[in-house]
Amino acid sequence: MSIRFDSVTVAYDGNVVLDALDLTVAPGEVMALLGPSGSGKTTALRAVAGFVRPASGRVLLGERDVTDLPPHRRGIGMVVQQYALFPHLRVEDNVAFGLKARKTPKAEIRRRVAEALEMTGMAAYARRHPRELSGGQQQRVAIARALAIRPAVLLLDEPLSALDARLRSGMLAELARLHRELPEVSILYVTHDQMEALTLADRIAVMDKARLQACGTPQELYRAPANAFTASFVGNANLLPVTVTARGAVLGDAELTLDTAGAAAGARATLCVRPHLVGLGEGPNRLTGTVREIQWRGATHRLYVDVAGHTVRADLPELREAPAHGERITVHFAPEDAVLLAAGVSGDEH
Ligand code: ADP
Ligand code: MG
Repeated sequence: MSIRFDSVTVAYDGNVVLDALDLTVAPGEVMALLGPSGSGKTTALRAVAGFVRPASGRVLLGERDVTDLPPHRRGIGMVVQQYALFPHLRVEDNVAFGLKARKTPKAEIRRRVAEALEMTGMAAYARRHPRELSGGQQQRVAIARALAIRPAVLLLDEPLSALDARLRSGMLAELARLHRELPEVSILYVTHDQMEALTLADRIAVMDKARLQACGTPQELYRAPANAFTASFVGNANLLPVTVTARGAVLGDAELTLDTAGAAAGARATLCVRPHLVGLGEGPNRLTGTVREIQWRGATHRLYVDVAGHTVRADLPELREAPAHGERITVHFAPEDAVLLAAGVSGDEH
């Protein structure tokens, strides 16, 4: 079932924390809501679940306006970061909780609890209490509990952030499998982790400062980000302040050839090029600078090169002979691997 935010605004004590959000999650789609802490992601989710009332705008599930409906009547499954399992209830009773609240017949509850535990690989743990489970297992129970009501819409709020890195990637694969088994369930997946969003989502909605900054497939946002914030938040990006020319742009004394996408010559702009698309040595669009830092990262070397007072990062396949610290080197990138964005943030982050 589709989830639609129709110009949804939420304010706390007059502070707008979600500003006129327009977004539609298609039936069966996984939409990631990606943004830094405090950008309004959880608030958006809570507006769908019914735990927060928009100051204006509407929330629709399918064709139905649910803005005034209480949470338990929305048919939504929700999983939050800290699992929120009932500590005194066994796993099976935690999973049955929503069904009991809905006065589901006993035999049906048994069937659905078994099914949800089966789907999440927790059937063998039905009689345990949450304290007898690992963090990853508790998270599976929380997911089973959300699935037991057979929701048309599943809301996940940073469901993996309490797990360690190895468990997280395993659970990510599990969630992808669950989605394949439940292809008709729409999923809104809140995260601040770009890898989770890139891995799992059909589309990503990028949030910053209470606003939707961009929305598109991971590939669209990665290859052609709409703005500097999106470029830096979805994947790594070199964001370099340049001046537009007739054929491209100028950075320091380097003349670069690239698609200016109609930007006026003389205008200030931000050049976006991904570190792994920067090559070492001669080539088109050369930049010359001083190696400020070299990091060996196993499969790659990461070079930080000072070019005309800006840092250009290059991720290179592991080099036999890495340049020396302080050495003057030339790097390059292909015209088609760069995008010009409206002038904005400069990219001296790591
Ligand atoms: P995110 O999930 O992206 O980290 P939230 O949606 O939780 O962001 O919060 C957005 C903003 O709203 C933050 O500045 C946060 O402090 C504020 N906020 C969230 N919940 C409340 C609340 N119940 N009362 C007051 N302010 C809140
Ligand atoms: Mg949050």
